Amino acid sequence: MIQAARWLRLPAEHPFGLAALPYCSYTAATYTGGYRVGVAVGDHILDLTTASDRLMPARAHLFRAGSLDDFLAAGDGAWTQVRDGLTGWLSDEQCRPAIEDLMVPVGQASLRLPFTVADFVDFFASENHAANAGRIFRPGAEPLPPNWKHLPIGYHGRSGSVVVSGTPVRRPCGQFRPPGADAPSFGPSARLDFEAELGFVVGARSHLGEPVPASRFAEHVFGVCLVNDWSARDIQSFETVPLGPFLGKSFATTVSPWVLPLAALEHARVRPPSAAADLLPYLTETTHWGLDIDFEVRLNGSVISRPPYATMFWSPAQMLAHLTVNGAAVRTGDLYASGTVSGPEPDQRGSLLELSWNGTEAVPLPDGTSRFWLQDADELTISATARGPGGGRIGLGSATGRILPAVRESPAGKD
Ligand code: CA
Repeated sequence: MIQAARWLRLPAEHPFGLAALPYCSYTAATYTGGYRVGVAVGDHILDLTTASDRLMPARAHLFRAGSLDDFLAAGDGAWTQVRDGLTGWLSDEQCRPAIEDLMVPVGQASLRLPFTVADFVDFFASENHAANAGRIFRPGAEPLPPNWKHLPIGYHGRSGSVVVSGTPVRRPCGQFRPPGADAPSFGPSARLDFEAELGFVVGARSHLGEPVPASRFAEHVFGVCLVNDWSARDIQSFETVPLGPFLGKSFATTVSPWVLPLAALEHARVRPPSAAADLLPYLTETTHWGLDIDFEVRLNGSVISRPPYATMFWSPAQMLAHLTVNGAAVRTGDLYASGTVSGPEPDQRGSLLELSWNGTEAVPLPDGTSRFWLQDADELTISATARGPGGGRIGLGSATGRILPAVRESPAGKD
């Protein structure tokens, strides 16, 4: 394991040590000229926009715009060179004069969406989550839909409402049918939920008409972020048959401000359950891009779930292969999410739908209250760590959102 330079005073077990090095787009009160690309180093952010000017001028143009977009598009040669450069600068005592003045405490930085989100796709890759949803909504029937073990199911979502961690989330209004009612009502969702997911960020584009094989996953996908696919269950359940999720999902999707490159996840790779499945050749899992990533979900500061990503049936390489097998292209900035991460145990479920079993079992909180669904002013935080070198854990950061009350007006101006 590479040691950080002594002057950084970076504890070996810090989740943002040299084995992580996630990227962000940020600004600080002392800056002129707007946003810069940053890299987390312990409790600080290194200004990569300026550092690359000083230490890697041939690549500096990739960071001048202050977002990750140009860097993502540059491809895996640039990704490797920049990460190797960063590791060198941060471990070589002689680089101190070039970068010491470029460190800003994370607490003094303002972080925005790190890249321009192009298309957004959401999968449904957890067998535990899919089976729980089946048991809840189709009791007595087979828990998994007949297609589930043959292909990674997904839908195309709404990229324009992807927001960065910390952005408040307004409770949506919409149509839903109260229990026993014949006709739908319009109003604020009463069944607001979260979904803890992992997101995959596409760097290098593919070309229309050319499927991307699973084996080329790491040439196209740059890294991962945390995703909360906020879901209004009452709106979702009335609208969803037969065309799938629409307004029950599209009002907001929160992502972490950090993109952790795949290169940081080499030690976290595991064989996903789908490796033992009998699949069509294009989905055969030989890449072992299952991931040992442990999630933690906190509601108003209290842990309510610890979903293990390693239990996810489909790997992100299979998701990419399926997403493009019909010739659809992926673009720089495409974000595809795993779907809710739920493990086999009750305290490993990644949504309130499952934790409260569709509003029938109260989820207790330490303050003496309980929840079936999210209330106004609730704050939901998803965080995660991955297995790193030497048995340690590296951080993915967190994705937080606080619920704002609905604006109680129908489109006609009255309820
Ligand atoms: Ca989802």
